[in-house]
Parts: sequence; structure tokens; C-alpha cells
Amino acid sequence: TVRVRFAPSPTGYLHIGGARTALFNWFFARQCQGQFVLRIEDTDTQRLKKDSVSQILASLKWLGIDWDEGPEIGGFCGPYYQSERLDLYQREAQRLVEEGKAYYCFCTTTELEHVKESQRQAGEAFRYNGKCRDLPLSIAQKRIAAGEKAVIRLKIPDSGQVKVRDLVHGDVSFSLDQLDDLVILKSNGMPAYNFACVIDDHAMAISHVIRAEEHLSNTPKQVLLYEALGYETVQFAHVAMILAPDRSKLSKRHGATSVEEFREQGFLAPAIVNYLTLLGWSPGGEQEIFTPKEAMEKFRLDKVSKNAAIYDTKKLTWINGQYLSSMNLDDITREAIPFFLRKGLITEEQSVEQYSFIRAVVGVMQDRVKTLVELTEAVDYYFRDVTEYDEKGQRKYFSSPEVEKLLGKALERLERIETFDVMHTEVAYKQLVEELGIKSGEIIHPTRLALTGRTVSPGLFDVMALLGKDCCLLRLKQAIS
Ligand code: GLU
Repeated sequence: TVRVRFAPSPTGYLHIGGARTALFNWFFARQCQGQFVLRIEDTDTQRLKKDSVSQILASLKWLGIDWDEGPEIGGFCGPYYQSERLDLYQREAQRLVEEGKAYYCFCTTTELEHVKESQRQAGEAFRYNGKCRDLPLSIAQKRIAAGEKAVIRLKIPDSGQVKVRDLVHGDVSFSLDQLDDLVILKSNGMPAYNFACVIDDHAMAISHVIRAEEHLSNTPKQVLLYEALGYETVQFAHVAMILAPDRSKLSKRHGATSVEEFREQGFLAPAIVNYLTLLGWSPGGEQEIFTPKEAMEKFRLDKVSKNAAIYDTKKLTWINGQYLSSMNLDDITREAIPFFLRKGLITEEQSVEQYSFIRAVVGVMQDRVKTLVELTEAVDYYFRDVTEYDEKGQRKYFSSPEVEKLLGKALERLERIETFDVMHTEVAYKQLVEELGIKSGEIIHPTRLALTGRTVSPGLFDVMALLGKDCCLLRLKQAIS
């Protein structure tokens, strides 16, 4: 059976690269009727950030990714926090020592620095010199008993090759002379990443390790660990990097990098899922918009791209716009309300009492904006008085002496309308235009500016119907005065 895992280190918010890794694992698990395990890799205590676990869990949930075992729900392979599994790592490290596959190393940081320095001078890359490798175990144990600090290192062959079979990259060989005897347990009893990872992937019966390509270089070490521990190895699939448009490593200076930031910028979860899925995989053909369910059915691990994916917010924005315009109106309204609240456009009570009005406002805007933030910025005049007019618009539409007269006439007509809806307001304006022999733009543009403060808006009569008679009359009077 297929069992996969997503194993974030809680060092901050969920990065989009991490989210994509989680998604690919989730798609694969669901498509194979396998299990998706969530494991928190929190043994590198110096890099931990407070609240990171809850932020990561919240982002996964928001994206719609659910896990079968892990934090909050448990499971038969738990605990799912590595910090709660230290016994297991220590036990396995001891076993390797007893079997002669690993050894205590007492070299101090200063000693190692010296080795490093002399290797550097000789033009070599740092490689542990194996000083403690042949220390008899009985002596090492005595030193430990006497309170000396030691790490545990894995003995690896001096030369040869390690082959990694990867479902994305094919067979990749690593030369052993690039590697040295790696530390598996630190002197404070904490496991090194590679060690804890292998132990847990085995203990949690993981069948496929799908993760970021940056871990491909760790994989030969992990393969050696599988061998030393006597574990059956897993299938690896390393997903190519996500790079910035300039092909550099994606970082803060390229804009949002965490799921949380995208959420704040008004992107919808299904749009982000859709976009991230396209970074490294595509259903083939021209299709670019698909639901998570479709992606889940069609996703193929061996079709994941070997090449780095280039991150492109324009594409994400376009996809988000597609979702916004095709989504059910109640769903978007529900998504939009928290943004309106935060902007102070409405209050909590209004969000309930005026729900149908808010929904109607969202309805006229939904095809015209690409994010919820853009939506929020575009609708202020429905909830606030117009206190200033677009500058260019003012110069263009309010400066001629005729305008006041025209708006005055429009005001008269609107006052007389009893059923103040799209049809009646439109008819009134048509008649006025005909009677005055003017172009419709001559009255429509100034009216729009008066009612919205803007030069662009949805259809003027939709706007009028939504604002209602009193509001329209008031704003026209205000513009004339
Ligand atoms: N904790 C590692 C990370 O966040 C997980 C790597 C792995 O999936 O093996 O990068």
C-alpha cells in the first residue's frame, strides 16, 4: 500500500514550495487510496519558531489538504512530532554502535576546525578525517561513562558509489569520496535530520518519499543509513525547485513566499492549489484550470518535471481571476467578508444584516477583479460616502460649465422614478440623452464620477440600482454644489 508523508520543519510559515510538496504527496496518496502522514520535524531546536506548527497546520487546512495520521488526529505510528521520538533514535543509534556500523566521536569543534583549515589550505573540501573511527568501543564507553561528550557517526565506505533511484530524476550516482562519516546523533542526544528522517520513514511504513529537490543530495546518505539499519528502502521522488522569474532562489524580495501571505493578498485556496500544481506538473494539453479532484485523478509522479519551475505571480493572478468569476456567489461573498471587515467597510453586524446587499455588490464586481484585495479596494463607494473624486476624472468630466446643468437635469429625472431599478434608471437616461441631443457618455461619465468618485465602475445602472435612490440623489447634489 502507498504511504507518503509531508515532513515540515516548523521554522516559519508554510512556504509555497512546501505547500506544493504537500499537495503532490496528498494527490498521490488519495489517487492510490493510500495514506498521507503529516510529521513534524522539530529536533533542530535552534531553528524552531514559536507558533509555526499551528500556522503550518492552518495553511494546510485552508488549502483543503487533509492528513490521515499526524498532529491533532494521531495514528498508529505516532507520536508524529520528532521531538517526542528521541528514545527511538537513541536506541537505533546505539544498535548501530553495537553492530560496529557507527561509532562515538569525541572530536571537539575546535579540533574539527583545525582539520577543516588544513584541508582548506590543501585545496580540499572538508571531510571528517576519521580520527575516532577505530577507537575501541570499550574505551569509548568508558569515556562516555566518565561524562565526556560525544556524537555518534555512521561509518561509510571510503570509496565507491551510492546509487539513488529516483522516480523523477531516474538513477543518480553519488561518489562516496564526496561524503564523510556523517553525524547521526548529536552530543545533546538530538538526531541529525538524515537519521531521524530515515528512522521515521521506516517506522511509519512510508512507501514513497516525495520531497523537494534540495534533499536529493541528502539521499545518498539516507540510502547508506537504510543499508546500515537493515531497513528496506523506499521509493524516492524529488520535485524540482521553484525559482524566481530571474531564476534565482525564491526569496522574500520576490514578494509573497508563504501560503499565508498569498491568502492575505486575496488569493483563493483552490486557485493557489491549481497554480502550485502547475509548478512541476500539468494534466497535459492546454488545460490550465482544474479542480483538486481532477488533479488528484490525473496526477502522475513520473510526469513531474525534472526542470525547475519558474514562479510567476501574473499567472497566479490570472488563475485567481478565473476562479473568482466562475465561483458561486455565496462562496465568494463568504471569502470577501473578512477582507471587507478588515478594511472597515462593514461591521460584523452588517455582514449579517446586509448580507444580500454585500452579495449583490460582490456580484457586480466578480468578473472585474482578480483578487479579493482588488475587490475590496474596488467597492468602497458602496459602503462609504464619496468624499473625493478621481483627479483626472474631475478635470475631464466636471470642468465644463455644462456639466452642472446636465447633472441637475439627471437629478430631476431620477427624483421622479418610483421603482428605482436598473431598467427604470436606464430608460430615464436614454430619454434624457435623446431629448438633449447629446452623446450618452456626456452624462454617463460625470454621473459615474459623482456616484462613485471613480472613472471606472461596473455598468452605471447596476451601480445606481445598488446604491438606491436616496444615495444617488444625495451624491448628485453633492457633485453639483
Ligand atoms: N524537514 C525537512 C524539510 O522541511 C523534510 C525533508 C524530507 O521530506 O525528508 O525540508
